[in-house]
Amino acid sequence: ATSQISKGNFDVTLAKRGNDELGELAKSIQLLANDLNYLKKERNEFLSSISHELRTPLTYIKGYTDIVLKRNLPINEQQKYLNIILEETNRLSDLIKDLFDLAKIDKNTFIIEKEQIDLNEFLLTIERKLSPAFLENKMRLEIICPSNVFIKADPSRLEQIILNLLDNSMKYSSKGGVTAISVTKLKQSVQITIKDTGKGIPEDDIPFIFNRFYRVDKSRTRSLGGTGLGLAIVKELVDKHEAEITVKSELGKGTEFSLIFKG
Ligand code: ADP
Repeated sequence: ATSQISKGNFDVTLAKRGNDELGELAKSIQLLANDLNYLKKERNEFLSSISHELRTPLTYIKGYTDIVLKRNLPINEQQKYLNIILEETNRLSDLIKDLFDLAKIDKNTFIIEKEQIDLNEFLLTIERKLSPAFLENKMRLEIICPSNVFIKADPSRLEQIILNLLDNSMKYSSKGGVTAISVTKLKQSVQITIKDTGKGIPEDDIPFIFNRFYRVDKSRTRSLGGTGLGLAIVKELVDKHEAEITVKSELGKGTEFSLIFKG
């Protein structure tokens, strides 16, 4: 009798364990399904943003080409419209370039080829390349970097990260603006800070600025020629380096992006 009882108990326990395991499995499947739905929704939103972003310049190009062709306009009017067509064509080409960059980064085959980089030398080269553009806009670029600070990074990708951040600091600052890149050696890492004296980012927008196509001021950014993908590319490239990027900003005072690379 005793063995019967214990056998019965054993079966009950086994069945219960089986049920628990099935329950856990069902929960995991449900979580995966949720993730999949989320990814599908994200992909659909991204695709509809792409088609919207491509359609807008195309609408301008088509509309103004029609006007120039069909109406007998004086030459200066024609030139005005042709300039808009050129601007919109440039916007399309920037957009396609950025989308292509993101698509490349998204692929599993994307590789980061890390090298030992002497930051002082590296940043001085960037300063030489970009200072003329800053000066042209009546702005200044400053580099503060001690010698003998090294990080392991892919030089062309690091350049792309810094150029995108500098391009923004120029776009969102006005005459007299100063952008400073400074390097600080921390215990286990190196921090590169890019600080501008531009218009700043409202606190509520900060959590979203790395999202694809997110812009604080949609109409103004359009006139400045942004694609809304620059910071998304920066974030992906920073992640690929297993580095970190943080942002602090004060409206009307300026913005500071910090990159932290493990030593
Ligand atoms: P965009 O092509 O519009 O510049 P980004 O992805 O580079 O797109 O930036 C997203 C948004 O973040 C910008 O539209 C702008 O509103 C804001 N932003 C980025 N960098 C700065 C900065 N240095 N100063 C002020 N606003 C910035």
